[in-house]
Amino acid sequence: MAKRQFKAESKRLLEMMINSIYSQKEIFLRELISNASDAIDKIYYKALTDESLTFQQDQYYIKVTADKENRTLTISDTGIGMTKEELENNLGIIAKSGSLAFKSENEMKDGQEIIGQFGVGFYSAFMVADVVTVITKALGSDEAFKWESKGADGYTIKTCEKDHVGTDIIIKVKENTEEETYDEYLEEHRLSSIIKKYSDFIRYPVKMDITEQ
Ligand code: ADP
Ligand code: MG
Repeated sequence: MAKRQFKAESKRLLEMMINSIYSQKEIFLRELISNASDAIDKIYYKALTDESLTFQQDQYYIKVTADKENRTLTISDTGIGMTKEELENNLGIIAKSGSLAFKSENEMKDGQEIIGQFGVGFYSAFMVADVVTVITKALGSDEAFKWESKGADGYTIKTCEKDHVGTDIIIKVKENTEEETYDEYLEEHRLSSIIKKYSDFIRYPVKMDITEQ
């Protein structure tokens, strides 16, 4: 009989990841910001060889917006965006790291990049999110797409409107429970201190917008 592939049960995998790999919930923000920074890098490198593209530093940034009333935290970037196929391939397969292949051994050594090795960087958002929505428009495309997931039960992809090339990751922040607090991920001071803590990894400006209740 032909050798069969194991199918990872994504719901169990997500629960395991959420409960064991990440000891600190705050790192979801580092993961999402580092993905945003990678996406801007991709435009930067493309502009080096593609004459039709110019890279103007001030047009490339990451913006973190907290909306307390709606309990949403949005991480927006002006990076390369994703096509529908890329959404399916990059966010539809858990534990497949696209960036892993490009990371040098040295980067891995100090342990800081260990989490990247699991290829679950993006999914760390589910530590603090009930729902994650990704709105994205790829460079060179005039269609935008909305990917949405509650984590365990898969995802949907629909067409949507978006003005600029890039990606918005919208996190619907969980309600506090008796054991865990999530409100802190909508607090300006808490967010800016997380951003500062991990800013060594970020090559582009991170702006912050707060909508108070
Ligand atoms: P990794 O960064 O190690 O590849 P992630 O789970 O963090 O793993 O991200 C998976 C993939 O999803 C990335 O490799 C990238 O292709 C895509 N992706 C995630 N966030 C963004 C973003 N903000 N813009 C464009 N692509 C993204
Ligand atoms: Mg990543």
